[in-house]
Amino acid sequence: MGSQEVSNTDWRGKHVTVAGLGVSGIPAARVLNGLGAVVTVVNDGDDERSRAQAAELEAQGITVRLGDGATLPESTELIVTTPGWKPDKPLFAAAAEAGVPVWGDVELAWRLRGQDGREPAPWLAVTGTNGKTTTVRMLASILEAAGLRTAAVGNIGVSLLDAVLGDEKYDVLAVELSSYQLHWSPSLRAHSAAVLNLAPDHLDWHGSMAAYVADKGRIYEGNTVACVYNVADAVTEELVREADVEEGCRAIGFTLGTPGPSQLGVVDGILVDRAFVTNRQKQAQELAEVADVNPPAPHNIANALAAAALARAFGVAPAAVRDGLRNFRPDPHRIEHVADVAGVTYIDDSKATNTHAAEASLASYEPIVWIAGGLAKGATFDELVTGCAGRLRGVVLMGADRALIREALARHAPEVPVTDLDRTDTGAMSEAVREAARLARPGDTVLMAPACASMDMFTNYNKRGEAFADAVRALAAESA
Ligand code: ADP
Repeated sequence: MGSQEVSNTDWRGKHVTVAGLGVSGIPAARVLNGLGAVVTVVNDGDDERSRAQAAELEAQGITVRLGDGATLPESTELIVTTPGWKPDKPLFAAAAEAGVPVWGDVELAWRLRGQDGREPAPWLAVTGTNGKTTTVRMLASILEAAGLRTAAVGNIGVSLLDAVLGDEKYDVLAVELSSYQLHWSPSLRAHSAAVLNLAPDHLDWHGSMAAYVADKGRIYEGNTVACVYNVADAVTEELVREADVEEGCRAIGFTLGTPGPSQLGVVDGILVDRAFVTNRQKQAQELAEVADVNPPAPHNIANALAAAALARAFGVAPAAVRDGLRNFRPDPHRIEHVADVAGVTYIDDSKATNTHAAEASLASYEPIVWIAGGLAKGATFDELVTGCAGRLRGVVLMGADRALIREALARHAPEVPVTDLDRTDTGAMSEAVREAARLARPGDTVLMAPACASMDMFTNYNKRGEAFADAVRALAAESA
């Protein structure tokens, strides 16, 4: 395989341009410099922070060009880019013209596996529009329960370069990959991979839905054991059919319904495997109970099934799937239960930064007082509102693009009471929670699943979630 050829590459004297300072650029530059490459970092910005970073790299013998991310340095043989750089940048046009390959940080890590002579750990890879982080963490938890040395790495915030080159020895890696990373990973070959779902997102970066889907589909290329797809999302299955995989690699579906042969699914509250059993026409293997999934919301059961499929493809025993799911604790701000106040449940799903994610959590509760709004990123809300209209007790809107949601509500759910908060200061969330409490009745759920990004009012979705939780706790203290 290509990877083996290049992992033994002699990097000494190779002219490599690293595009972009930052979380992936700086470690890439350091690693390549350490391997003896002649490294030049190019960066668009030329601010105080980048000057400080440049000074540190230059002290190690790395050339840094600030304020010019467009010009291809002379004699460049390879570009290693920050995944976030858009493919239509002039630097890449220049590279294409000069026949210079472009790799992302993940591709670099993939090529450097085994560089130190050790047998590289196989990758179990996950992508999708929503649920990546959750699924990868569930997968790592299952692999750990099976006694394997593993880590959740990649887009999740743990660098693949560190995982591949660090001292820790892994049996297998649970890898989260974004569409950007996949775009720049031409030779990546996972042991097995899953595409969880596909909905429009990041289209400004990819240029079109077709290009976004194609980049996601790259995750299946060269899989050796299993390509895991979502039975409810036909496009994911199509991507499997189109992928060029190793001989004997199987297509494995996951479904919230009864599984067919070569699928994992749910029967009478039990997660079952009809794929990795001796006789899949007649047999099904019990893996876990729905109640073992935390939280047992439908989309999260789908995530658990995808994680289980990848683990089973790696040969993990059913009991480890159950134990791993039981041990799993979701990350904050993902359908997080904050408190019950006066018989009303308050849920923080601040991570629902697009309509597809919000749709999943809105489908998990009833009746709901929905807190929504923020930056829409070009999204429309008609479909989302149509789907959840029957479950809404009321809605509280906030943020820059709230009018888009208000108009969709007026069109598809005119009878639902809406409170429109025309303020963006830090106190806005407290008022939103108080308004929601006023609309809610005992037994209802107040769900903060904004379907929008947070940056119009908050630093990030974490801060938005914390503001919500603080407001709910203040409400609980008042009513105690
Ligand atoms: P990602 O890493 O893909 O952003 P996360 O696991 O962090 O995914 O979840 C992001 C958001 O998407 C959460 O708000 C969650 O409610 C929602 N979500 C999680 N899994 C799914 C799924 N399978 N389908 C739809 N939405 C989901």
